[in-house]
Amino acid sequence: MGDSAANRPNHDMHGAEKLSSGASSPRLTSRPPNVAGTDVKDTHSNPQLGRNHEYFEGNTVFCLGGRLQNTRHRPINIGTGLLIVLPAALFFGACAPYLWQHLSPAVPILFAYIFLISFSSFLRASASDPGILPRNLHQFPPADENEDPLRLAPPTNDWTVIKSAEPNVAAMEVPTKFCKSCNIWRPPRAHHCRLCDNCVETQDHHCVWVNNCVGRRNYRYFFTFVTSTTIMGLYLIGASLAQIIIYSRREGVSFGQAVDHFRIAFTLVIYGALGILYPVALTGYHLFLMARGETTREFLNSHKLLKQDRYRAFTQGSILRNWLVVLCRPRPPTYHRFKDRYEEGDQRFGERRNLRGDRMPTSDQDMEMHSVRPFQGPVSLRNEASTPLS
Ligand SMILES: [Zn+2]
Ligand SMILES: [Zn+2]
Repeated sequence: MGDSAANRPNHDMHGAEKLSSGASSPRLTSRPPNVAGTDVKDTHSNPQLGRNHEYFEGNTVFCLGGRLQNTRHRPINIGTGLLIVLPAALFFGACAPYLWQHLSPAVPILFAYIFLISFSSFLRASASDPGILPRNLHQFPPADENEDPLRLAPPTNDWTVIKSAEPNVAAMEVPTKFCKSCNIWRPPRAHHCRLCDNCVETQDHHCVWVNNCVGRRNYRYFFTFVTSTTIMGLYLIGASLAQIIIYSRREGVSFGQAVDHFRIAFTLVIYGALGILYPVALTGYHLFLMARGETTREFLNSHKLLKQDRYRAFTQGSILRNWLVVLCRPRPPTYHRFKDRYEEGDQRFGERRNLRGDRMPTSDQDMEMHSVRPFQGPVSLRNEASTPLS
């Protein structure tokens, strides 16, 4: 398929050559094993240089030494966290003791378990790396002084051939773009988020409720969060209602009198019924998207095209396989290791930030940036850059 595509006369394959990974990989020096009897010194890590996250150029804020991260934007996620924690605290304070005594200890214990799943997946979705791609991997060589200023810039759009899982299509071409902010050729399905100012691998969408992008590394946490919050809401309604009904039967009073006695429990029933609507809708929407093998972004963008022009390049051919491939795929490692020590000349990073997030320009930093060898680009781009236009 790749060969036939390249041989088509009207097909532009500029920049589509397969690249060797050596030229574009960031300089991640692996530490040599400490052989007995030899004194292996780490020549790159310098404790005074700080951690990787202090040099990160995206619009991201870090805490706990780079262990937690969030978008440097409105921290709406604090409100989202409170929307889960407050009703849970009210339930544990006002309903759990009664249900423990008069129904079963299993009822509050199971609620605690669902709450823990919901809150921990919320934290992971909100404060972990969604799959931010490393920057500056494919820098174009700087323009020559004598070069014609009207010379056309190298192309920033391209096509990548991917293997298709559909039985009647062997392969498909999907668009790939060069990101001018991150200086990288984005892999298929990656997008640049304007709020985070990062390219994110298999970006689903930017979620304002968790104040983070939802991408390849945290989609499953996000989905677990909306699903478990839906279950928690249903459980909250059921358990609070049970408390009122049990009280009215045991004491032989009307439902209205029982509500009057357990006002917090009734408030939780109302809160659960209203608060559950959004997570229910999101759970349904994401089950639908996963079944199609599309991200939120791909699904919404496909509606800009005519129906006959829409295609799903990443579907696995069946609903079940599409669900499995998202929910059971391994979580890839982070590309940045934000809490690791910074190593001099690491081209993925920029100038150091201080605690407030402002840049700390140093003269050494300029030298470091100059010492980074620019990425030479695909062969066709290289030729184009060196051959002046006639
Ligand atoms: Zn980008
Ligand atoms: Zn984002």
